[in-house]
Amino acid sequence: MTEGQAKRTMYDVVVIGAGPAGAQAAVSAAHQMRHVLVLDAGPVSHRKGRAYWSKTVEIIDAPAFPGISGIKFMKALREWMAARPVRTVSISGRARPAGIELRAGMMLRLTRTAAEPGERAPAGHLFELEVSTAPLRDEKSPQIERFIGRTVVIASGFDDVWPDIEVEESARRQYRRYASVFRFAGNRKGWHVCIRCDGHLHVDEKLAILATGDLAWGIARGAQDFTEKLAILTNGRPHGFTAQQLATLRERGIPLVEEKIVAHVGKGTDLLGVRLESGRELFFDGFMLDLGLVPNTEYLRKEDGWSLQEDDEGLLVVDEDGQVLDTKGEPVPGLFAAGDIVAGQRNLIATAFALGQNAGLSASDVLREW
Ligand SMILES: Cc1cc2nc3c(=O)[nH]c(=O)nc-3n(C[C@H](O)[C@H](O)[C@H](O)COP(=O)(O)OP(=O)(O)OC[C@H]3O[C@@H](n4cnc5c(N)ncnc54)[C@H](O)[C@@H]3O)c2cc1C
Repeated sequence: MTEGQAKRTMYDVVVIGAGPAGAQAAVSAAHQMRHVLVLDAGPVSHRKGRAYWSKTVEIIDAPAFPGISGIKFMKALREWMAARPVRTVSISGRARPAGIELRAGMMLRLTRTAAEPGERAPAGHLFELEVSTAPLRDEKSPQIERFIGRTVVIASGFDDVWPDIEVEESARRQYRRYASVFRFAGNRKGWHVCIRCDGHLHVDEKLAILATGDLAWGIARGAQDFTEKLAILTNGRPHGFTAQQLATLRERGIPLVEEKIVAHVGKGTDLLGVRLESGRELFFDGFMLDLGLVPNTEYLRKEDGWSLQEDDEGLLVVDEDGQVLDTKGEPVPGLFAAGDIVAGQRNLIATAFALGQNAGLSASDVLREW
């Protein structure tokens, strides 16, 4: 940096994502007097975070929150972070910023960048974050801003794969393509994606499971805590069960419907049933869905040198400090992850808070000078 050039803003910890994992990581780091930037794609995209999708179903197992719908929960997390704004703290006469700056922004690209003279880089390098800070529109070029961080916490979670029922193929934006599915998603009588979360709504009721193979098997096994009145719908795809699994399903009287689903049968935002290709209509009290997931990590590009250890779904592998591992099993300096994006964890809110705290504190720890 030459004399006279403005010093660039350097955040101690940049958190990508403002769900429970990201919010907790940010609050924990700010609590250790760190200068924290949180990037939240929610306000500028349809990436609202998984908790948001609990639209009319109350979340009743999240710590310290009474029954709260997902939309209100995400708002409460934003308020929690906003209550810790950036201020100047002075320790032994050295002033530095501490607190949380919350920015609307969709992370597009994460790269490593060299520190300039006088800049402290605990990872041996700094992180540069390329972010779209206004809604992305087809016809307009994106509004890009760049931020610099000493450490990064990845808490951008994953998106559930939605079913191709009454999908608007010509629509480019996801929320238009899946408008019909989204009408019913996350409602008490609608598409649920988490048997642990929403199974309690359907005790001894008729439950449809839209999934195949091991995903369907996992839901069916989990669902038995709530009801035995199950049916598996494959929506025209091969069922993917082993002979032994098929025998168990038969034994349990769980029907397997392999016909394609062509339409929802609903009233307002309530999903009541589905119409099959043959015209047959099936009615249920609840609808569970698991068609897999898409990790929200497209900003970690191979061409930028990111070679991270992932599980077979693309979730990131971390060590006990929440530090991301590379493909050789080595912790990547300065890079942490928390929440649903972490492999091998329960995808639940309390887990996301715990992983967020671990990553936020670990990122703070590596910034200590001695
Ligand atoms: C319908 C539904 C109901 C659920 N019910 C329950 C329940 O009752 N109890 C329970 O414990 N769990 C429940 N869960 C699971 C729970 O919501 C998740 O486990 C939890 O939200 C994960 O937290 P997270 O912070 O890791 O990710 P998320 O909550 O998914 O948050 C991810 C954040 O990252 C942001 N983001 C994504 N991509 C980018 C990007 N490129 N740049 C910047 N930001 C980005 C998103 O906008 C969001 O702010 C439910 C999930 C769903 C879908």
